[in-house]
Amino acid sequence: MQMEPDPAMRRITLSFDNGPHPEVTPFVLDILARHGIATTFFIVGDKLAGARAASERAHAEGHWIGNHTWSHSQPFRERGDVDFVHSEIDRTQAALGTLAHPDKFFRPFGGQGRLDGALNGCAAEHLQKGGFTCVLWNAVPGDWKDHDGWPDVALSQIQNLDWPLLVLHDINLAAMRHLDRFVGTLRDRDFAFEQAFPPSCLAIERGSPAVVLRDGVVAN
Ligand SMILES: [Zn+2]
Repeated sequence: MQMEPDPAMRRITLSFDNGPHPEVTPFVLDILARHGIATTFFIVGDKLAGARAASERAHAEGHWIGNHTWSHSQPFRERGDVDFVHSEIDRTQAALGTLAHPDKFFRPFGGQGRLDGALNGCAAEHLQKGGFTCVLWNAVPGDWKDHDGWPDVALSQIQNLDWPLLVLHDINLAAMRHLDRFVGTLRDRDFAFEQAFPPSCLAIERGSPAVVLRDGVVAN
């Protein structure tokens, strides 16, 4: 049952990219379960076979599963040819099968969290034709490179955001050891955890261009 949002509380949405990982994903799932938080896991297709059970568990526990490219090797700003773009999107969607959310969530590989050129014209067209929902982000605290400092970076990044959509990664245990305390801090600060995405972070919604299909995000 979905609770009505309390207007006194600020909303926040968590997401976990670049997994699944056979140890880190279950570790993150345990923490989220303890706090009763539902999130989205954006999956790198070529990692799925190595840890499919973790993604199946996430799905069974009510988390949403999205597509985060097949190889996570080159942002579309660096490689925009049709074969690469289509294969990065379609191979992962096929591998996810019934794990995938019906709205077909796709998050491009930004490269160090960059939004500019994370999509290109070819990808945007393919995602629209395929009825995908393209989910971007507005806070990237860099947990993959700063295993201990990311919670402070995150708190400062979200300070002035109306509805943060935070990108974390279920790939490194040292970084995720701080997740439990970080979630506790957000609770203490009266954040309400939402599974839905802020509209300002959607570039495409079920195949239709959405708020941020804008200059800078789509390179030609
Ligand atoms: Zn990524």
